[in-house]
Amino acid sequence: MTKWDGHTHSQFCQHGSGEPTSEMVERAIELGFKKYSITEHAPLPKGIIDDPVLAADFTLLPDQLEDYFAHIKELKHRYVDKIKVCVGLEVDYIASHRTYFNEFVEACSKHLDDLIVSVHMIQGKNGIAPIDFSPESFESELLNCYDSIENVHWAYWSDVEKMVLDRPEVDITARIGHLGLINKYIKQYPVSYNKDRYEPFFDGLFSMIKQKGWDLDFNVAGLKKELCHDMYISDWMLELCGKYGINLIYGSDAHDVASVGQFYDRYQRLIGEDKDE
Ligand SMILES: [Zn+2]
Ligand SMILES: [Zn+2]
Repeated sequence: MTKWDGHTHSQFCQHGSGEPTSEMVERAIELGFKKYSITEHAPLPKGIIDDPVLAADFTLLPDQLEDYFAHIKELKHRYVDKIKVCVGLEVDYIASHRTYFNEFVEACSKHLDDLIVSVHMIQGKNGIAPIDFSPESFESELLNCYDSIENVHWAYWSDVEKMVLDRPEVDITARIGHLGLINKYIKQYPVSYNKDRYEPFFDGLFSMIKQKGWDLDFNVAGLKKELCHDMYISDWMLELCGKYGINLIYGSDAHDVASVGQFYDRYQRLIGEDKDE
C-alpha cells in the first residue's frame, strides 16, 4: 500500500500556520510518504458567511481558485520525482445548497486528482452554522436551536446521509472527510445515542457509503483536540467500515508542517499493518 497523506491544507489557508506548502510537502517526503493530497477548503456558496474577513478565514475565496490550482500544480511538477502530489479540494456539503455543491464540483473536476467532501456546517439558530468553530458557537447556534445534544447530532447525521446519497459523478477518488467531526467537543457536550434509533440508521448509512463508492478519511486530527481526544473516525465507525468493506485513507488534516503525517502509526496499526511498503 502506498504511504499516502490524503488530507492536508496549504499556505492559502488563513486558519492554518501560513507556512509554505512546499515545506509541508518536503516534510512528507522526509517521512517517507509517496503520495500527498493537498485538499484546501473550497469556497462556500454566497451568503453563508457575510463577514468578508471571516469568510476568507474559513475557505478559499472564489477569485483565489485559479492561483491555488496553479500553485499545487507547480508543486506537483516540482516534486514529481520524489512524491506524487495530488491536486485536491475539501468541499463543504451544505444540505440546503446541494445545487451549488454539484455545480462547483463539476466545474472544478478537470483540475482535480482527489476530492474530499465534508459536512462542517448545518442549519443553526441564525442560519447555517459551523459544528466545529468553537464550543461557544456550538452551544449558542446549535444546542439552542435543537434543544438537546442528541438532536444536534441527529441533524448532523441526517445531512451526512444526504451527502452520501449525493455523491458527485466525477471520475476521481472521492471520500468523506472526518465523518466523526460532530464529536469535536464531545467531552464538553457528551451524548449517548438512542440505540433503537441509531443502530439501523448507521447500518443503512454505511451500507450506502459503500454502495455509492465513497472512501472514508481516516482523520486523526481530533486526537489533538482537547475536547475530543479521539480520531474523527471512532471505533464503532471502523467496525462498520469493516463490515461493509469501506476503504479508509489516512488523513493528517495538517494545517502546519509539524502535523504532516501525524499519528500515521495508528493507521498502520489499525488498517495498513502489513500492507505498507
Ligand atoms: Zn481547516
Ligand atoms: Zn475539514
